[in-house]
Amino acid sequence: MLEGAKPLVSAMSSIIFTNLFIEVALIYGMHPGDTVAVETKTQTYQGIVMPSVDKKVFVLKLESGYNLALERKKITKIKVVQAYNSVEKASSSSVSPKKGLKNVAILHTGGTLASKVSYQTGGVVAKFTPEELISMFPELPKIINTTPRLIRNMFSEDLNFNHYNLLAEEVAKEIKNKVDGIIITHGTDTLHFTAAALAFSLEHLSIPVILVGAQRSSDRGSSDASLNLLCAAQFIAQTNFIGVGICMHETTDDLAGIILPATKTRKMHTSRRDAFKAINSQPWARVSRTGEITIITKFHDPPKAAFTVKPFNPDLKIGLLKSHPHLQKEELAAYKNFDGLVLEGTGFGHFPINNIDEFTKENTTILKTIETLAKKLPVVMSSQCLSGKIDLDVYETGRKLQEAGVVGNSSDMTPETTFIKLAWLVSNHPKECKELLTKNLRGEISERQPYQQD
Ligand code: ASP
Repeated sequence: MLEGAKPLVSAMSSIIFTNLFIEVALIYGMHPGDTVAVETKTQTYQGIVMPSVDKKVFVLKLESGYNLALERKKITKIKVVQAYNSVEKASSSSVSPKKGLKNVAILHTGGTLASKVSYQTGGVVAKFTPEELISMFPELPKIINTTPRLIRNMFSEDLNFNHYNLLAEEVAKEIKNKVDGIIITHGTDTLHFTAAALAFSLEHLSIPVILVGAQRSSDRGSSDASLNLLCAAQFIAQTNFIGVGICMHETTDDLAGIILPATKTRKMHTSRRDAFKAINSQPWARVSRTGEITIITKFHDPPKAAFTVKPFNPDLKIGLLKSHPHLQKEELAAYKNFDGLVLEGTGFGHFPINNIDEFTKENTTILKTIETLAKKLPVVMSSQCLSGKIDLDVYETGRKLQEAGVVGNSSDMTPETTFIKLAWLVSNHPKECKELLTKNLRGEISERQPYQQD
């Protein structure tokens, strides 16, 4: 729509534009947020008008949540099914605390969960006064007393070590306020990194801190936001769990949330609601939609020492490099001024370091580069297989890597947790870093039987 142009039809509905009027309608007649039915010669689409920078294209948000870009010239007919009412009034539901319910702080960092589509920007925006939150999730105040706070409103892919420190400090503030638990709403892309980061930095934590995300925003029929948030609230309300966990959908159905271990979980699907899975581990518990809890793994005992925040050094440079066929030495050399490097090897933890024919000469230099790096900074192996443990003793390649100074043998941490743990150790325990990498500190390394058969 043209800047400043007044929508002709946003107060009306069921207006149909055809032929000559379509271009006029596309420029002046449609208002972002209007629900429209759009016809081309071959198909009809119904969706919500999104703002578009490219004036040749008309963007519709379909019911599935995906944006569809239609070439304007191909549109033959448009019908405004429902005009957008931009003045959405938040419910004035009471948020006053109820006796007998646990006090749970909700710290919002952004992402899809407590968001709705913004018809001004086409992205999602936070809906985050207590009233708005409760109007979106009206069951919440029956389960917990909430005091939601907006910490940041950002996509989780943009987070860095500074944000982990900020969150840890906010958790510490809430602990001082004597809350019974904390829910952190978070984008899903790097939710497992943040969960691991908090598991390490919140030392001797004595309350539950549950991270919750949503793969689909709350204004979509298929949204997982409500179930994930309510299951997290139920879990805190009904159990004595201590530590950091993640609550997401157990399956693609709306039947149960699953509480996953902070240091052993990974996002395994781009869009499915059950994208988060425990890797080389088991979930803590299942929480059914109706609030029944099944404990799967015995909870931690209360800590024996006082809670303290052990933050990340935000000035550190920690790398994460995936092995692949035709790897170049320059890819490794790029990390020479870093403070730590996680290698994501193939299989048991391998990199192409064997010079065995006329095509593999580069591999000798790759091994030398790894050796040079390992003299300057901790170089830790992890596996791109994800399931199973690192074993640098099975093949010659693993033995050579160990001789070159690569550490991390026998660990079954995900590459992401290895990255977070390395950064946290370099920040807090630089001298014992290599030794502690393969010691289980926060449930990140399986004590027994790390192999996962299925
Ligand atoms: N890219 C988004 C994020 O991680 C996706 C989401 O909100 O889940 O913040």
